Amino acid sequence: MKIARRSLVALGALVLLFGAPSVHAQSPAKRATVIKAARMFDGVSASLIPNAVVIVEGNRIAQAGSGLPIPPTAEVIDLGDATILPGFIDCHVHLTIELSGDWPNQALRQTSADAAIKATRYAQRTLEAGFTTVRDVGGGDFVDVALARAIDAGTIPGPRMFPSGHGIGITGGHGDENGFRPGLLDHGIREGIANGADEVRASIRYQVKYGAKSIKVIATGGVLSEGDEIGAQQMTDDELRAAVDEAHKLGRKIAAHAHGTSGIKAAARAGVDSVEHSSFLDDEAVALLVAKGTFVVPTLLAGYTVEAGAKDGTLPLFAREKALDAAANMRRSFRKAVDGKVRIAFGTDSGVSAHGGNAREFGLMVKNGMSPAGALFAATREAAALLGNGDIGAISAGKLADIVAVPGDPLVDITVTERVTFVMKDGLVVRGAGR
Ligand SMILES: [Zn+2]
Repeated sequence: MKIARRSLVALGALVLLFGAPSVHAQSPAKRATVIKAARMFDGVSASLIPNAVVIVEGNRIAQAGSGLPIPPTAEVIDLGDATILPGFIDCHVHLTIELSGDWPNQALRQTSADAAIKATRYAQRTLEAGFTTVRDVGGGDFVDVALARAIDAGTIPGPRMFPSGHGIGITGGHGDENGFRPGLLDHGIREGIANGADEVRASIRYQVKYGAKSIKVIATGGVLSEGDEIGAQQMTDDELRAAVDEAHKLGRKIAAHAHGTSGIKAAARAGVDSVEHSSFLDDEAVALLVAKGTFVVPTLLAGYTVEAGAKDGTLPLFAREKALDAAANMRRSFRKAVDGKVRIAFGTDSGVSAHGGNAREFGLMVKNGMSPAGALFAATREAAALLGNGDIGAISAGKLADIVAVPGDPLVDITVTERVTFVMKDGLVVRGAGR
């Protein structure tokens, strides 16, 4: 107590010496920044707006439209023959992981500090690629939460994050670490391994206690996990219902990893907000997803990445057959979801593929049957709706100033999204315009 009081006295003396900190001194007369470009996709209209002008004040968009008058004192960033878009949103990344080398044994060799140091680079690459917001669907040891904190504090550059802590799944399931000797990596609810509705609830509470802003559950087997069947449902209907109830009760959206058909249906029936991967859809599953308003987050890029790894032999044996099966069916199911008018939000599973390559998903979505505007909406308006965040996903008055630009016209050639030339996040330029 004594020390605290003395510090307060010392602080008082400093204020006397240097004057009280003034808010106005920190932010001199709000000078607007104007971003101009030949075209704009605003995340609201499916057609491009010509002669785009966006007026940014502080960290918000004040006005946006075609040929708006430019305030005389504004700083003008003229991007020329480019298209301005809302900052991209990726609803499925793992910023604390990037598969390489001997990744199946990383759990034994890598510390959380190792993961955190590498994650700072992955976060920066992701942001510079135009992804100003991501939902991180699980890493380990709450490194994702620490990363999000460091980004929010301005300590390191990176996208706005929705971390999940540990994904939650059953013992021996896709979310567990399998194939080691008993006792070596026996996880419990703190690490997201839960059996029965009560443990699922306890595990969610623990993730939320330590900073999870979204919840991820593992409804079925997966590709990159040893010894499980990709098509098999892993969490029971009862566990999934408990997970949805608990997550929503605590004000969190919930994503379910699901490849197999019965797991997709069980997750949708339980009321999850999104089904991730969604590789084996049938007609009934499509109808159910539409009726419930459940989003699908397709992760086609991960499908192509593991398929390539299965073919060139870099993927471990246990995953190869599963990878080929999942990838082919994921593309078929994506087409089925598009045709069936399922709501689709953009997600890449980056971490399986290299961070910063997220925009390749746009090209894959279009190649597999989505319109270019549909793909752009998936990464803006639809992703924002899935995250339940009304501040992002569009360029319109009042939204956060998360703005990117690509050369040319993305409705003509969607792959220009892979060549982002300008990135503004929260009103600050992080790429382009001299940065
Ligand atoms: Zn994933």
